[in-house]
Amino acid sequence: MSEPYRHTKIIATLGPATESKEMLAQLIRSGVDILRLNMAHATHQWVKDAMWFIREVSAEVGRHVAVMMDVKGPEIRTGKVERPISLAVGDRIEFHIEGADPTGDLPSVSVNYPGLPADLEVGNVVLVDSGLIRMKVFEKDASRLRLEVLTPGELGSKRHINLPGVQVNLPSLTEKDMADLRAGVECGIDFVALSFVRQAEDVRLLRELLDQLGSQARIIAKIEDQAGVRNLASIVRAADAIMVARGDLGIEIDYHKLPLVQTEMVRTCQADGKPVIIATHLLESMISSPMPTRAEISDVSNAVREQADAIMLSGETTIGNYPLESVQVLKNIIQSIEPTVDRGLNPHIVLREPKAMMLRSAAVLAGELERNGKGNSGIVVFTRSGFLAYVLGALRAHGIPIYAFTDVDHLFRQLLLPWGVEPFLMPFTDDDPEKTTLDALSYLKRSGWVNPGEWLVVITNALANEKVIDTLQLRQVE
Ligand code: PEP
Repeated sequence: MSEPYRHTKIIATLGPATESKEMLAQLIRSGVDILRLNMAHATHQWVKDAMWFIREVSAEVGRHVAVMMDVKGPEIRTGKVERPISLAVGDRIEFHIEGADPTGDLPSVSVNYPGLPADLEVGNVVLVDSGLIRMKVFEKDASRLRLEVLTPGELGSKRHINLPGVQVNLPSLTEKDMADLRAGVECGIDFVALSFVRQAEDVRLLRELLDQLGSQARIIAKIEDQAGVRNLASIVRAADAIMVARGDLGIEIDYHKLPLVQTEMVRTCQADGKPVIIATHLLESMISSPMPTRAEISDVSNAVREQADAIMLSGETTIGNYPLESVQVLKNIIQSIEPTVDRGLNPHIVLREPKAMMLRSAAVLAGELERNGKGNSGIVVFTRSGFLAYVLGALRAHGIPIYAFTDVDHLFRQLLLPWGVEPFLMPFTDDDPEKTTLDALSYLKRSGWVNPGEWLVVITNALANEKVIDTLQLRQVE
């Protein structure tokens, strides 16, 4: 056991600050659970090199990490300008779709989405450059929008456009996304994060594509606009996990409602037993400072208290000067806050399967053992689909490690996401469940996770009159 046990998982985005062999090794050693490849800035060759490198360094370091490919999704951007255009309040500007002629009486900039004039109405607000410049549509035709500036700024080339509250008719997967996915699947990515998921259908389309490509990657739906928030419940049901993508979400909704929406998203995921990731600006100031701000410490603490499954670093580990320090700060906050979190089991989860109900009993029993000083009692579970481990994580049994054994290679890494799950890859002996259980217990003892005399709750199969039955067992480590 190289790291103290923690429930909250850490995701770090790979980039120039962390992609050297030495930094990657340190990042993996530091306890990062999942590495994110952000396809907004990546080529296929970079993905191949990064994947190869990650697997090689993981093997050398002796610690495994999962890989998440974050596909860019549909994105609306302004085109190139020769020099930045200064926009003052009340100034007027035109956006024309690519291929259309500017009207000529106003400065005009192209946009990459031909459906933009059709999707917008006169009076709609358009946010440019990640929300820095606000404009309002005052006139439009089939290929042009004319806008008045509400909040001033400098408009440079290829600026991101957000349209709060507007139903955008862009496809959920672009040609680039599909090509990126093919490259990622070839390299064996474990998770795909899909940007700007607006409805459950977006997730189903991605799943169809992954099935066609023969990929087992799990889907993380990034919620980053009002449509995604509105359709949250059905998106959560369709996806394998959710990311609260606060960067865009903070622009697309009223910024002061972001904490409320975050809490609602965490609750909805917990009720459905799906992992939830809190992303963006957790330690933004640490891009250039060795210490977080007090507000950032509180924000991370809040995510840990809300019992998000994972917290994610972006700029901090891609371009930041203090990537390793950022991971250490997250770990320090988690170590301080987790033991203080209210210890009741997840009250929101709806358990439908009898086997899932048995897991709740296992969590109650393990809690009882732990409170009565019977060692660091954990739960041992064997899984090939991941279902049991994902539900156990969703139950949020505080202070109870979940030791999840699997003999399925890709699932092993996918178990790095749910709250509190510590995965192990080990062959099973199908015709002798007792041997599999003893192998698991001796592995846990050998690697220092458990000590002789401690009690464990084990969920496993047993053979009774040649029938396989589900059992919940109490085992003392010998
Ligand atoms: C976000 O918007 O918070 C996010 C994680 O997405 P991206 O980094 O792709 O903008």
